[in-house]
Amino acid sequence: MTSHDDLTARCRAVLLGVAVGDALGAPMEFMTSGEIAAKYGRLNEMVGGGWLRLKPGQVTDDTEMTLCLARGIVTAGGWDLRTIAHEFAVWLRSKPIDVGDTCRRGIRNFMLKGETESPPNQWDAGNGALMRMTPLALYTLGDKELLQKCSIEHGHLTHNHPLSDAACICYGRMIQMALLGAEKSRLRREADRLAAEYPSFRFDPYPGLATGYVVDTLQTVFHYFFRSRSFEECVTSTVNQGGDADTTGAIIGGVAGAYYGLEEIPRRWLKKLDRGCVTELESLAPKLVSLSPQLTQSRSPSTSSS
Ligand code: MN
Ligand code: MN
Repeated sequence: MTSHDDLTARCRAVLLGVAVGDALGAPMEFMTSGEIAAKYGRLNEMVGGGWLRLKPGQVTDDTEMTLCLARGIVTAGGWDLRTIAHEFAVWLRSKPIDVGDTCRRGIRNFMLKGETESPPNQWDAGNGALMRMTPLALYTLGDKELLQKCSIEHGHLTHNHPLSDAACICYGRMIQMALLGAEKSRLRREADRLAAEYPSFRFDPYPGLATGYVVDTLQTVFHYFFRSRSFEECVTSTVNQGGDADTTGAIIGGVAGAYYGLEEIPRRWLKKLDRGCVTELESLAPKLVSLSPQLTQSRSPSTSSS
């Protein structure tokens, strides 16, 4: 396989990783790890059910908002916050099966007032911006500063909070490093750097909370990502922690997809996902990377100077 094909496959694995993590975890959302263990032993199949009464393999807002962000970038042919906000608005009007309160408020703020930045709010440190971040990591591949700018602007559509911003940027960087072949120890240094700057993100020892608070969410993702040895182990151990299981599952699925690659995502999980969803994610992933300003420039140096 050429390295270009390998990168394309890894980018697909990022978006598909989000979807399988979401679908595996969603039926466990709001359960405790003890309740999951009592009912399933160790859950590692797409069972459906849960408080949303899902079909096996059905995805939720985590994947749907990821799709909106990816569509927004590809439709605009680059970075345009209003196109992304419009995609979120179309999605909200479609009466999705689940929407976080902070996301709903931010999107309604855009729909009613045309605003693309929610006011700062100390309570907006949920994981709703982090959970939909992966398309940005693909679109800004190779450009740290653009990743930072886009992460913050996109996050503030709904979540205007420094901990959410910091989590989004760190997660995006980790995905980009993994896509470009970095070892886990380098990803670990990135996580440690976040914890040094914002000590609340320290995850060793793991506090064991997997709530929708972005700190708890990312601690859970870090803990299981750095101690697991396969894509399946990463995602399974994360969703069995319970709490915001679809979202922690989606988030770890993205970075684990980048790190382990497409071949490592269990086929039996992919087969349970909706075909239309898989096809769209697979087609959007390489388009996002091909729009990356950094990669576009390096391919055609003559146009970048004009
Ligand atoms: Mn969800
Ligand atoms: Mn959730």
